[in-house]
Amino acid sequence: QAKRTSAGPVVEFDRSMDEARLERLALERDLAAAIDAGAFELAYQPQIDLQSGRWTGAEALLRWRHPERGFVSPAEFVPVAEETGLIHRLGAFVLEVACRDAARWPAAIKIAVNVSPLQFLTGDIVGAVRSALASSGLDPKRLELEITESAFVGENHRLAGIFSDLLALGVTFALDDFGTGYSSLGYLHRFPIAKIKIDRSFVTDIPGNRHSMAVLRSVVVLADGLSIRTIAEGIETGQQAEILGELGCGEGQGYLYAKPLDIGQACALFAGGAKDGERGGRTERRARLAVV
Ligand code: C2E
Ligand code: MG
Ligand code: MG
Ligand code: MG
Repeated sequence: QAKRTSAGPVVEFDRSMDEARLERLALERDLAAAIDAGAFELAYQPQIDLQSGRWTGAEALLRWRHPERGFVSPAEFVPVAEETGLIHRLGAFVLEVACRDAARWPAAIKIAVNVSPLQFLTGDIVGAVRSALASSGLDPKRLELEITESAFVGENHRLAGIFSDLLALGVTFALDDFGTGYSSLGYLHRFPIAKIKIDRSFVTDIPGNRHSMAVLRSVVVLADGLSIRTIAEGIETGQQAEILGELGCGEGQGYLYAKPLDIGQACALFAGGAKDGERGGRTERRARLAVV
C-alpha cells in the first residue's frame, strides 16, 4: 500500500508491492523471449464419450517451462500475455502446434484449442486459423475453438462477421467454463455454438450439492433443446461420471480419464483407443466405482 503525506504525492511504497511490480515486469520480459526460445509446449487432455467410452478428442493446454521458475501456470501468464498484446503471437503458436500435432494422431478425433477473447476482439483470428489449417493439412472439422462467455460482453459489431468467416473455414465452437461468466443466454442461439463445456465448479461437489445438481440438469436440458452438445470438465470420480452420464451429458474430461499428456503419451493412448474400440467407458467406470 502507498502512504501519502498531507501534501498528497506518494512518497513510499510498501516493499511487497514493489516486489510484485518487479516480478510482473520480469514475467512480461521473459514471456516475450520464451516464444522464440521454444519454452512453450502443449499438453493434450483427452475427452471421452460418456456413453460409449470412446475418445472423442483432446484439449490443447499451454505449458511454459521457465528456465528459473520451472513450470508456470497458464492461469498466471495468459492474463499477462493478454495485457501486453503477446496473446496474439502466443495464440497463433498454439493453433499451429495443436493442428500440426493433431494431424499426426493415430485417430481422426477433435482437437480443442483455447482462444482468448482478445484474439477474437482485436486480433486476426481468422488469418491465424486459416494458416494453421493450411500448414498442417488438418481437416477443419476436427478443429474446435474454445471461447469463454466474456468474448460476448459488450458485444462487438465485428464479432458476427468473425464467427461466420471461421464457420466458413469449417471449424466449430465450444463455450468454455459455462455457467461461471456472463449470464445472458441470448448468444447461445445468436452465435454458432456447437458445444457447451460445463465448468468444473458444478462437477466437483456432486451429488452432495443440490444446487450443482440442479444447474447440471438444467444445462443439459437447455443444450439439448438448442441442439448443442455438452461436455463436463474436471471429472475426477467414477460417481461424478456416472451421474453426468445419467443426466444425459454427452462427453467428459478430467483426471478420472487422463491428466494432460505430452504428445507421445497422447499418440500412444489414441492408438490404443482406436485398436480396442472402448477405453475408460461404462464397464471400466463401473469397476472403478465398485472399488471406491
Ligand atoms: P480451461 O480451458 O478451463 O482448462 C481446464 C483446466 O482444468 C486445465 O488447467 C486442466 O489441466 C484442468 N483440469 C482438467 N481436468 C481436471 C480435473 O479433473 N481436476 C482439476 N482440478 N483440474 C482439471 P490448466 O492447464 O492449468 O489451464 C488453465 C486455464 O488456462 C485453462 O482453463 C484456459 O482457460 C487457460 N489456457 C490454457 N491453455 C491456453 C491456451 O493455449 N490459450 C489460452 N488463451 N488460454 C489457455
Ligand atoms: Mg478450455
Ligand atoms: Mg474449461
Ligand atoms: Mg475451467
